[in-house]
Amino acid sequence: MIKPDAVANGHIGAILNDIIAGGFKIVAMKYIQLTQESAGNFYAVHKERPFYGELVGFMTSGPIVAAILEKENAVEDFRKLIGATDPSKAEEGTIRNKYAKSIEANAIHGSDSDENAEIEGNFFFSQFERF
Ligand code: ATP
Ligand code: MG
Repeated sequence: MIKPDAVANGHIGAILNDIIAGGFKIVAMKYIQLTQESAGNFYAVHKERPFYGELVGFMTSGPIVAAILEKENAVEDFRKLIGATDPSKAEEGTIRNKYAKSIEANAIHGSDSDENAEIEGNFFFSQFERF
């Protein structure tokens, strides 16, 4: 998911270029704005964290790009491509290093396991939309 900060700052095209150059195939993609309820559900694993309310506020602050990507070893390779959660710690050349401003407004989300990639893909896309 390309987050509201990166969309607002005009980085959709550059980020998609990096993703494609990284060897990922875009299988499905949509441009939408999340509701409080859907952002809350998406980040439900962080419900107890102190930043949850702000995170939901930020994620609903503007449109996002949701996509399903395909590649061998996709989860691990995508997390390498996006870099550390805190952009000040993200390696040079990573998407968060180049396009993110803060630990909250960090430009992009990547699934953290194959299992969660399946869940998050189904959160944004029905099978009908995918094929
Ligand atoms: P994501 O799940 O978005 O790909 P991540 O897996 O690198 O990011 P998580 O620990 O899952 O990091 O945190 C989810 C999101 O919550 C982060 O991307 C960031 O937007 C926000 N977040 C994480 N830690 C903090 C924090 N300490 N303060 C504010 N926001 C935070
Ligand atoms: Mg995460």
